[in-house]
Amino acid sequence: MNTIRIAIDGPSGAGKSTLARAAAGALGCLYVDTGAIYRTVGYYARSRGLDLKDGEAVAAVLPEVSVEMTYGEDGLQHMLLNGEDVTEAIRLPEISLCASAVSAHPGVRAFLLEMQRKLAREHSVIMDGRDIGTVVLPDAEVKIFLTASPEARARRRCLELERRGTPQPYEEVLREIEERDWNDTHRPVAPLRQAEDAVLLDTTALDFQESEAALLAIIRERTGGA
Ligand code: C5P
Repeated sequence: MNTIRIAIDGPSGAGKSTLARAAAGALGCLYVDTGAIYRTVGYYARSRGLDLKDGEAVAAVLPEVSVEMTYGEDGLQHMLLNGEDVTEAIRLPEISLCASAVSAHPGVRAFLLEMQRKLAREHSVIMDGRDIGTVVLPDAEVKIFLTASPEARARRRCLELERRGTPQPYEEVLREIEERDWNDTHRPVAPLRQAEDAVLLDTTALDFQESEAALLAIIRERTGGA
């Protein structure tokens, strides 16, 4: 059986993970959240007290890092860092900027590239991230660039943080989103950008159901209704 690869890229807070997970359920694909992989490395580098902007210092500890992904009985992706389940810990707000900082280093990206490609060779995947359509899976059958205005993304992130029990003020969340957008689009290696053959989906004015319907319609159209 041929596997299918669906790449979803876009800025933080655009709803990629929630939408991709729902679409993966509807289509019977494996959902791969690549941001969680970068978060795991960011979490480790922070726990070692490194200067996260120092690419050489971060690269030097990579041989000590074993990142594994498993899927729980709940079907959710769990991240293991040297055998320890860090799925919850990497979601803390302060880890977002750590992930963004370490992800700018070419050594870190190269270290994680094969792991992502291997998953896509072995399974039909919906993979979300920043460079999936441009770098990780340039031959993906479907590429979607999912975005929304920074304000809409900040409002959604605030609701999510509230649900997790770690609320943060809107202004702070918006500032953090704008900082991550800037980091992710201005780094020299694998910057966030829309692949030429990606379909743009802007969810600023859409609710969750409308966004999911739009996403599935693009996927079905691109895969011939499969
Ligand atoms: O998607 P999420 O917000 O969890 O990603 C955390 C950070 O990891 C992003 O801000 C981005 O800097 C980085 N990242 C990346 N490439 C990916 C996925 C995430 O650089 N494919």
